[in-house]
Amino acid sequence: MTTHSPTLPPLTQHYAALLPGDPERGAQPRAPRNALFSFVEPTPVAAPRALVLNGALGTELGLSPEVLHSPTLLSCLAGNGSWPGATPYAMTYGGHQFGTWAGQLGDGRAINLGDLVDDAGRRQSLQLKGAGPTPYSRGADGRAVLRSSLREYVCSEAMAALGVPTTRALALLTTGDGVLRDRFYNGQVEAEPGAIVCRVAESFLRFGHFELLAARQEPETLQTLLDYLATHHFPDLSGSGKARALALYEAICQRTAALVAKWTGIGFVHGVLNTDNLSVLGLTIDYGPYGWLDRYTPGWTPNTSDHGGRYRFEQQAAVAQWNLAQLGNALYLVVEDAPVLQAILNDFETDYRRYWQDEMASKLGLSRFEPRDEGLVSELLGLMEEAQVDPTLCFRHLADVPAIEAVRTGAPRGTALTEALAPCFYDDAPLDHTRQGAWEAWLLRYGARLHADPADPATRRERMNGKNPALIPRNYLTQQAIDGLAEGDEAPLQRLLAGLSRPYAPTAEDAPLLGRRPAWAEAHPGCTALSCSS
Ligand code: AMP
Ligand code: MG
Repeated sequence: MTTHSPTLPPLTQHYAALLPGDPERGAQPRAPRNALFSFVEPTPVAAPRALVLNGALGTELGLSPEVLHSPTLLSCLAGNGSWPGATPYAMTYGGHQFGTWAGQLGDGRAINLGDLVDDAGRRQSLQLKGAGPTPYSRGADGRAVLRSSLREYVCSEAMAALGVPTTRALALLTTGDGVLRDRFYNGQVEAEPGAIVCRVAESFLRFGHFELLAARQEPETLQTLLDYLATHHFPDLSGSGKARALALYEAICQRTAALVAKWTGIGFVHGVLNTDNLSVLGLTIDYGPYGWLDRYTPGWTPNTSDHGGRYRFEQQAAVAQWNLAQLGNALYLVVEDAPVLQAILNDFETDYRRYWQDEMASKLGLSRFEPRDEGLVSELLGLMEEAQVDPTLCFRHLADVPAIEAVRTGAPRGTALTEALAPCFYDDAPLDHTRQGAWEAWLLRYGARLHADPADPATRRERMNGKNPALIPRNYLTQQAIDGLAEGDEAPLQRLLAGLSRPYAPTAEDAPLLGRRPAWAEAHPGCTALSCSS
């Protein structure tokens, strides 16, 4: 750590400079009309400490290692100091939560500072999550606990390395303050360590921003926000007014379809797909009780508060479309063309299907998806579900199965054919006769399909390994990092972050992170399912 303090590059303002805001300042609760944000300062914390600083992202944002590690930056990210050029503000939005209109929500614990321009020339907003009360805190404390902040940092950076659109994380700080939480919803309130994540995204605009303006019948502000979004974040869209608003809706539908197909491909379950947690840029946003399929169970959700399984893995595309319908309803206020909005919304299904097919084709190492591959894929998913295999390991090890050789030469057969897949089966006992036969039959069908595909085996294997990650931030791994910190050991967190930065090409050091979820973790708190308390 440096002892002197370098100067921070000044933040610039865009959202708060160009859009209508709330004339009142401060954190007292309110519901401003025709306003997209309220100016509010972060609340200082007792003893901030930087737990993780993201050097690679810092460099992209023009923050040198010296600046990134400086006490000045730490103080600004904690809310104890002010970053030159910052005009801290909380955004105003609403949302449908679990299918019900919840009215005004807003940034209840996130405070935006302003923007930096990255090395690709893109404006990036910096936001502190857990920085204290805002007008939108609805009686809550505006703070975040370390375990949930660490989970957000780890998973958002893992997503970025996996190639999934996401908000990023520049820093994870502990605040030195305790935060009171009823962690298991059993009436036991405990002080937990508080934390702040500095999130970074081109925009934090959500579906709920537009819904709130429509619910309040504020068409001019809605049109202003649509124009802002189109001009600055979708510059390729032509036209103006209603036509551009429709083109924007179409673009948001497509990005959402592409995003959910990527989640499906890597076994990610967001956990709380309310409309306030969907980004209009198609980014993964708001990491709460998310999870990863350790076993292929399409009906699974990691969120223990989601009793009906509304946001379960297999439901994410349908629920994303439901959320897009709410966005379409909001846009109706200015577009006034229900049939066209409906037609765009209907296209989501075909768009999603196409993205999903591309995803599956590349996971299987096929040059392209053909209609006959429908059966090949659904049979594999059926086998995976029936045997409750680890889907990440199954896809990863498929590249090592000599399926094409078995078709060409008749060998290997039997267990020699399936042995490369052994790591993905939870039961270490050999496959029983029926299962062995079913997997073998599928692999021979797959081998025949590969045989007809033009790619050469070496290229295919390389492509598959670049598509099917060896390492994902399974909840038990992240929980081990959290448990390590509680004992003062930062090594598990550092090892996990290092591994997750190279999910497709792990090194020997990553070996302990690569296996299936261990048996002890199935019932251990935080290792499989989680509550919303954060
Ligand atoms: P989330 O479930 O984290 O997406 O949050 C839903 C809404 O509750 C958002 O408006 C959040 O800003 C707000 N919220 C969640 N936790 C807190 C908190 N501790 N203090 C204030 N607002 C919160
Ligand atoms: Mg949220």
